[in-house]
Amino acid sequence: MGETMAHEMMHAWFYLQGCRGKLERSVEEGICSLMGYMWMEWFCTSGVDSFYKTSVQVQYTKDLKDYTAHCMELNQDKIYGQGFRDAIKAVSKFGFNYTVDYIVKNKCLPCEMDPAPLQCRGCAVM
Ligand SMILES: [Zn+2]
Repeated sequence: MGETMAHEMMHAWFYLQGCRGKLERSVEEGICSLMGYMWMEWFCTSGVDSFYKTSVQVQYTKDLKDYTAHCMELNQDKIYGQGFRDAIKAVSKFGFNYTVDYIVKNKCLPCEMDPAPLQCRGCAVM
């Protein structure tokens, strides 16, 4: 449930940034799926000391996170599978905030060879 909310909230955030209909689906679904995945990671690692989650919920979410990562790794779908892998690669290299700012500005993921600043050197997406 939380993973789905995080995914959908990311779509909403892009909408509020004026990106509706302007992003390639693989870029948007990839980063939104990654946001859901990051939520699961946060949920699993933030401990069970808070009142709203139990160790059973944390274990279930950890198993779901591992299963999701495995499925995304094998998913041949260009939008969800490749989109997720591209998003995780970009975020690993550039960080989440930079990647998302870059997407909003350039409507694509940061290029591999693009060391910074927030300027696309000309992907096919633009
Ligand atoms: Zn989505």
